[in-house]
Amino acid sequence: MESILVSGGAGYIGSHTVKTLLDRGYKPVVLDNLVTGHWQSVARGVPFFQGDIADSHLVRRIVEKEHVSAVIHFAARSLVGESAEKPDLYFEENTAKTNRFVSSLLESAVKRLIFSSTAATYGIPEEVPIPENAPTSPINPYGFSKLMIEQSFSWLEKAYGLEWIALRYFNAAGAALDGSLGEDHIPETHLIPLILKAALGQREGISIFGTDYATPDGTCIRDYIHVLDLANAHILALEALGKGIGSGVYNVGTGSGYSVREVIETARQVTGRTIPVVESPRRPGDPDRLIAKVAKIQTLLGWSPNYSSLEQIVESAWTWHLRHPNGFE
Ligand code: UDP
Repeated sequence: MESILVSGGAGYIGSHTVKTLLDRGYKPVVLDNLVTGHWQSVARGVPFFQGDIADSHLVRRIVEKEHVSAVIHFAARSLVGESAEKPDLYFEENTAKTNRFVSSLLESAVKRLIFSSTAATYGIPEEVPIPENAPTSPINPYGFSKLMIEQSFSWLEKAYGLEWIALRYFNAAGAALDGSLGEDHIPETHLIPLILKAALGQREGISIFGTDYATPDGTCIRDYIHVLDLANAHILALEALGKGIGSGVYNVGTGSGYSVREVIETARQVTGRTIPVVESPRRPGDPDRLIAKVAKIQTLLGWSPNYSSLEQIVESAWTWHLRHPNGFE
């Protein structure tokens, strides 16, 4: 069994990927500092180390003890608003600590790495759907912190033979189909969980941030990708690197988008609940439309989404919220 270190494996996307790794016969090993992750989300029997990716001694010890051969690196801060208020925190926690993490891995002779990147590296796109070779011009420190990491990898590849794939996620959403894992962020800022909290009666309603965008119904369009499809993309990327596919950047999205109003309407249908809406001003930094061009990942990694219809995304998230109205407890 190949042993894969998953940093941030107690987080939202990380925990789903750990579950998928187990299903595929890998041995995941989790490293998470639990600042935003939940120990309850780590599957039973999975070796779990609570600590920091920048703790070189710990990282080297885990690699040796668990015979780690490759890494999927999720651990990061991911709140856009917080990043604008504290850019230095993001450059430290995401960029600087990843650099230390990768140095420790290379010292331990681990050279295969899948990295959790983001569509926020593009900024406001000139072209939609966005191809991977579009200009990168992030409009928030979160996106910039991730872009710097991607760029550093090319140099680490040249100098030390790092083999890497960065997956630029569009809008991760949904939950494990049995409702055992799901999204539990504090504070929650994402559209679908907030809508479902309104459906549960935990919030008065949902604010639509901007109704005057250049889209058919005036609300922003995003490319929502099911977390299980994202998890699968990481495993295909890992296997592709193992087969000698070159390093590089891949979008992960569906190639189609839904507006905020469409998401709310789907949630009304799925839940059968009333979801009051408040039309609110725009949120700073939201482009009208963000949709991935997905030809590269489909062709080179053989990936395609299986769970990412909007109905499946919302249904699975609703199952999670019904089973865990207060998140992981
Ligand atoms: N959004 C909204 N109300 C909310 C939260 C989000 O209208 O309470 C909108 C947001 O402006 C964006 C879309 O929903 O157009 C998705 O936002 P989210 O924060 O989920 O993801 P992002 O696109 O920022 O990664």
